[in-house]
Amino acid sequence: MKKCKYCGKRYKENSIEHIEKLPDFIKEKIKFIPDCSCLEEMFKREMEKLEKERVHECMKNRVKKYKDISVVDNKFLESRFENADMSEKYMILAKRYADNFLVKNKKTGMLLYGDVGTGKTFASACIGNYLMEKGKTVMMINLGLYLNKLSREFGEAEKDILKQIEKCDLVIIDDFGTEKNLDDNSTGWRAEKIYNLIDTRYRSGKPLIISTNLIFNDDEEKCEITEKFSIQGKNRIRDRIIDMCFPVRVTGKSRRGITKDKFLEFMA
Ligand SMILES: [Zn+2]
Repeated sequence: MKKCKYCGKRYKENSIEHIEKLPDFIKEKIKFIPDCSCLEEMFKREMEKLEKERVHECMKNRVKKYKDISVVDNKFLESRFENADMSEKYMILAKRYADNFLVKNKKTGMLLYGDVGTGKTFASACIGNYLMEKGKTVMMINLGLYLNKLSREFGEAEKDILKQIEKCDLVIIDDFGTEKNLDDNSTGWRAEKIYNLIDTRYRSGKPLIISTNLIFNDDEEKCEITEKFSIQGKNRIRDRIIDMCFPVRVTGKSRRGITKDKFLEFMA
């Protein structure tokens, strides 16, 4: 007699009524039936697996959508904690931020500031990519590229991006305040676009990370963000940032160019 190929239990005789009235070839097939639930369980597991795959696929598409509309260069998308120097204090902080982001309900933002080339961009990109791999929707915006995009594509581009800025789990604005040569005509336009971006995120009540070479200071007078973005004595951009982001000074070793140590070594 047939046995279940999973648990080995013998099949039992089928007790449905009028089995004898069925055609022979069917009768043959259902005369004995499994006396266990292995098949049902297999089926259930299979369905659960398919459902999991479907959810995972949805998540991947959702994450990809944000990745696609992010305005950053490719270097940004390749930054990973695995390739980081995790002895750097700010990298430890970045990793802890990312891990807590996944488990805590109430999320907070950060303002990473410090000298050029200290790895702020890399650290924030690591956070973004790590969270995307875990299924969070992250938008990464290089401010210079973003403003260029808006100046090229009038109208809808800003509206589309702001709509996503409102929705996604985390927004990262990189290279905040590096654009130069703000001539008088464009200063107002740029300031307005930057304010729209930050204010939209502010109203969503969700976290924002900003990385900037500008030096932040609690004293408005000494704060380079004030200096760069105040318009007619108003500090709307700085005010919003302070409301959303905890300032963290990043003082890593400079990664770009020749370090002081290298130079001194050469000169000795
Ligand atoms: Zn079985």
